[in-house]
Amino acid sequence: LVSPNGGLPSSVLWAQLILKDRLRVGDVVVDATMGNGHDTLFLAQCVSPDGHVFAFDVQEAALIETRKRVPAEMATLIHAGHETMRAHVPTNLHGKISAVMFNLGYLPGTDKALITRTETTMIAVREALELLKPSGILTVVVYPGHEGGADEGRHIAEWAASLDSRRFEVQHLRP
Ligand code: SAM
Repeated sequence: LVSPNGGLPSSVLWAQLILKDRLRVGDVVVDATMGNGHDTLFLAQCVSPDGHVFAFDVQEAALIETRKRVPAEMATLIHAGHETMRAHVPTNLHGKISAVMFNLGYLPGTDKALITRTETTMIAVREALELLKPSGILTVVVYPGHEGGADEGRHIAEWAASLDSRRFEVQHLRP
């Protein structure tokens, strides 16, 4: 449980550890925030050779970067907002997705205007739950440090706390 810098796990590393333990070869998963493709590659490696990743981003640059890391047979890269994921993931896979991973905020070194936004994030996390299979897992990494990030995190936390506890188990980790 060590970060590359020798410190404690980052939020993303916690999410990856939880997912890695549960994902199986052949699973189909969603990366809701592709960025440079590190998480898409992580997910693809967890489910390969027979699994598949559907990955989303609103920036074309994200698709280009991610395609350098992850071959087409492992991941379908979709140039669209995650708030449209239900329309893009084939209907025969609805209710069969093993995990949906969100890593919110902006891509370091790029346009901060292309940040995730509370309104679309909240649509997307609701859609994500509809895609998950029983015992599937949704991870959401939130960065409260940038403008709008704290508000986005509050909305996520309130929504998660309001879910039916007979159907959903919720954990909130705060490094
Ligand atoms: N997972 C990425 C990686 O491994 O490099 C990092 C993701 S970065 C923190 C957040 C990403 O969310 C940015 O690339 C940004 O373009 C993207 N984004 C912003 N709004 C979005 C939306 N509505 N749907 C999908 N992606 C979005």
